[in-house]
Amino acid sequence: MFKGKINVTRLLVQKFGGSSLADTDKIKGVADIITTAYDAGTQVVAIVSAMGKTTDGLVALANELNSSPQGRDYDMLLATGEMVSASLLALHLQSRGYKAIALTGFQAGVRTEDVYNTARIKDVETDYLNTLLEAGTIVIVTGFQGENSKGEICTLGRGGSDTSAVAIAGALKADACDIYTDVTGVYSTDPRIVPNAIKLDEIAHIEMMELARLGAKVLHPRSVEAARRWGVKVRVRSTFNLNDEGTLVVDEAMMSQDSTRAVAGVACDKNQARVAVIGLPDKPGIAAHLFKTLAEKSISVDMIIQSIGQDGVTNDIAFTVNTWDLQNAEAVLKPILHDLGAREVLLDDNVAKVSIVGVGMIDRPGVAASMFQALAEAEVNIGMIATSEIKISVLVSSSQSDKAVQAIHHAFFSDASSEELVPSKLGY
Ligand code: ADP
Ligand code: ASP
Ligand code: MG
Repeated sequence: MFKGKINVTRLLVQKFGGSSLADTDKIKGVADIITTAYDAGTQVVAIVSAMGKTTDGLVALANELNSSPQGRDYDMLLATGEMVSASLLALHLQSRGYKAIALTGFQAGVRTEDVYNTARIKDVETDYLNTLLEAGTIVIVTGFQGENSKGEICTLGRGGSDTSAVAIAGALKADACDIYTDVTGVYSTDPRIVPNAIKLDEIAHIEMMELARLGAKVLHPRSVEAARRWGVKVRVRSTFNLNDEGTLVVDEAMMSQDSTRAVAGVACDKNQARVAVIGLPDKPGIAAHLFKTLAEKSISVDMIIQSIGQDGVTNDIAFTVNTWDLQNAEAVLKPILHDLGAREVLLDDNVAKVSIVGVGMIDRPGVAASMFQALAEAEVNIGMIATSEIKISVLVSSSQSDKAVQAIHHAFFSDASSEELVPSKLGY
């Protein structure tokens, strides 16, 4: 008898974040989502984060015993969080009569570069995964980790499970990669800071990548990079509100919704610190010496300002680094102050970077002016400014960062943001 072709999804990668797996009831809820897809005839690979705030707890434990934990053994510790949630989920699925297996990232074939704590995924060997899927097994993989060329565990940086999911989806040529989290999608800004933020139905890869790099933690920046490179269809949606379609991350050219907007979103990064090197001689080669020394120690520098000192013959150079690089930056700079001819180095970690991002701001005058006007009206002082074609960032004091985000968001989204605070929007 002829059977009509049923349009089922062949293979789906589903990723569940920490808050989606925070306790055993939530793990049961995640199992419901997986089995709904599986029962509809879809092969499922589920990528899991550690339960709730487990990774924060592991970091705190390590810090109690070592003032700067790092390297191989730190990664071995951090990787354990995901192993707990993956095995609990597999055990629960088995108790419900499903064939399920929990794999560590390295058992699943995730190969990373030889870097601890912030490794990039080099490739994913899919033979074992494919064999399991063809046998009808639901495969659960620990996110956030893989194996380097020496067979050691390497983690991918905080929030890296998103990248595990997209890389595995790309390698398996999955139909889609659904990122299940505790909000119903990507918003115009963090809905915890601006409750009436707007949920975006679609966002361009390039905008999402910038927002993620600038502090919107809803997706790990490298996951967006991977989605674009491997053409993975990524959707961000809520574990707790399955009626909402979420946000699709798409190529800019495929955007179907209002692409005339100047700004896609506002992001805030509180893990920023400012370093100022005071009294540098005003002559060629000084900036090169300073930044080369920092680069040799792998310290990334972001916003940079050079200003003429009050005496007219010296310069001050200020720049931002991530807070976790601040001690290192100080340790690197103090010994070369004499060589540089500088007077002193000043550090400030009470700062935050607030940014707007949007491909629509290219060649559109007045966007920066509107942002600065909003900050002026909110009486927020701007410490530093950095721009590129599709972003504008300002450094503000960390105590004023929420106020800055709210004022800027209001300036660019006030027409659309008429919704009231609806707790269900957060998907709790
Ligand atoms: P998970 O544990 O599921 O990976 P994360 O905490 O890493 O979840 O990311 C989700 C959080 O990202 C949300 O709870 C929200 O507070 C925050 N967030 C920041 N910026 C945005 C944004 N523009 N849109 C949605 N969520 C955002
Ligand atoms: N558990 C890791 C973290 O908390 C990875 C992740 O959740 O994506 O950063
Ligand atoms: Mg996350």
